[in-house]
Amino acid sequence: MKLLIIEDEVRAADYLKQGLSENGYSVEVAYNGTDGLHAAANGDHDLIILDIMLPGIDGFAVLSALRTNKTTPVLLLTAKGQTNDKVRGFDLGADDYLVKPFQFPELLARVRALLKRGKAATSDPVLRVADLEVDPVRHRAIRSGKRMDLTAREFALLALLVQRTGEVLSRTQIASLVWDINFDSDTNVVEVAIRRLRAKVDDEFEHKLIHTVRGVGYVLEHRVNA
Ligand code: CA
Repeated sequence: MKLLIIEDEVRAADYLKQGLSENGYSVEVAYNGTDGLHAAANGDHDLIILDIMLPGIDGFAVLSALRTNKTTPVLLLTAKGQTNDKVRGFDLGADDYLVKPFQFPELLARVRALLKRGKAATSDPVLRVADLEVDPVRHRAIRSGKRMDLTAREFALLALLVQRTGEVLSRTQIASLVWDINFDSDTNVVEVAIRRLRAKVDDEFEHKLIHTVRGVGYVLEHRVNA
């Protein structure tokens, strides 16, 4: 497990680094916001411990920049215990918050909890839309508790639509993503595959999940009045 500490107070940072290393974590330290953001954006840390009061780019700015493309769990650390700061931190995408001074065992417990939560989130790859469940690992698709019998291609097509729920995909996009080929003119193959998939996914249900967007393509989504 790789942790990144972004903290400008050298003694505090080194103390945390030592304590966490002794508990078996691999720890990297950045002593200012700029270096911290750089390390966080380019690294593959499992958790980031981020101080708010930093010279230059503060912790809020680091968090906000980081959240444009990273979901790494962030534990905010600060001497400020005001509710406004907490709310702002959570709004920006922090996962937890700890006010200084704190006891090391509490920090350790929070680190463990955040890492466990992150692991649980990544070990459940099942995608769900309404009563439809698609499990890409077990290659299984279930609707209303009933397993569907899909060909490998149909499964790939369904998994794509579910992964991109709510997003309209053109026939050309689908062709290149599912068949890995570019069909320049003839996207009829996609239409045929969609028709077969619909027969298995939607036909026996009143509530349809796969929709045609005329002139554009297809979208899978849960429509309340559909
Ligand atoms: Ca500080």
